[in-house]
Amino acid sequence: RSMSSLTIPPPACMLRPLEVPFRYLFGPGPSNVPPRILAAGARPIIGHLHPEMYEIMNDIKKGIQYAFQTQNNMTIAMSGSGHAAMECAIFNTVEPGESVLVAVNGIWGERVAEIAERMGASVHTMVKAPGGVFTNEEIEKALAKHKPVLFFLTHGESSAGLAHPVDGIGDLCRKHNTLFLVDTVASLGAAPIFMDQQNIDILYTGSQKALNAPPGTAPISFNERACQKMFTRKTKPVSYLLDMSHLSNYWGNDGKPARLGTVSDLQAFCTGLISKTSWKHHKEVAEYLWTGLEDLGLKLFIREKDLRLPSVTTIAIPQGYNWREILQYIMKHHQMEMTGGLGPSINMVIRVGLMGYNCQKRNADLALAALADALRNCKKSKA
Ligand code: PMP
Repeated sequence: RSMSSLTIPPPACMLRPLEVPFRYLFGPGPSNVPPRILAAGARPIIGHLHPEMYEIMNDIKKGIQYAFQTQNNMTIAMSGSGHAAMECAIFNTVEPGESVLVAVNGIWGERVAEIAERMGASVHTMVKAPGGVFTNEEIEKALAKHKPVLFFLTHGESSAGLAHPVDGIGDLCRKHNTLFLVDTVASLGAAPIFMDQQNIDILYTGSQKALNAPPGTAPISFNERACQKMFTRKTKPVSYLLDMSHLSNYWGNDGKPARLGTVSDLQAFCTGLISKTSWKHHKEVAEYLWTGLEDLGLKLFIREKDLRLPSVTTIAIPQGYNWREILQYIMKHHQMEMTGGLGPSINMVIRVGLMGYNCQKRNADLALAALADALRNCKKSKA
């Protein structure tokens, strides 16, 4: 038989037009993308080295500096999801054998500890139950004990629904010669963060939550202290793709003329940046949702209001109900995504996210109506 004949026929599924249903994305992300931003993604593709692309990238950099409240030059949007930024932050600033301290109070600390372990760091964890809060005294004690080069904290702990306080921790990290790394994937745009004023050395987020862009872009910023550490390291970072010496060159941040290329999906992202009023707006809509949930007889997982994450609300699973059945019912009858817990919060919570464009009282009403309907119709005591 001739080697030029096709033995694998084209798959029938590829010949059908693509169909994507509409869904209310009221889980912890991705969230629905407004038409203006969807339309930006449909603009023509241009070359990654074309001058217009650099203009777009410069504009994006300014937008991220604003959203992070930082003047850091080393500010970029990476290609990849939030996980890419997590790995980028750790791979670039930590060398094998160095001590890393991770605050674990939900899945995201667990993940970061694993990422750091995989690249050969000596990882120390401070562990609390999902939604637990670390005091500055506890953090300082652990910094003094483990002398880490890096301390990780999640600002918006989306698996637990917690907005962790950040004030004062950056100062403690400076005192102990530690870099302070903060994850704001689930909180940026929904809860206040001030990278420079709060002495955060490395900050990252994701595009698909309150920023309302499609998934696949992760803004990240490094201050001078972080640059000093990452650009004087002795070993090369374990990842080529995520190596900041390449990425900073492509973004024109290193002052050198040669610019490398990398694949980017930036145009849809660049119109999705937040405005500062979004903090107030998220808080108002979240409070409206919380009152509605309590009126339904539901209990909020994070008791203290000030510690609740405005973008992702966690509801304690109502007694006697099977949470999977509730979520399946809501998807089937209301075309609406809500989710269960993640990692250590699994079997503990149901998560409802109203972020960015989705953050509107009428969406809170839709979510409340769907939950009320599910509570009426899902059989009790199967948990
Ligand atoms: N950190 C937090 C706090 C998150 O909520 C998420 C996403 N749920 C991530 C990191 C990972 O981001 P991604 O799913 O975009 O990889």
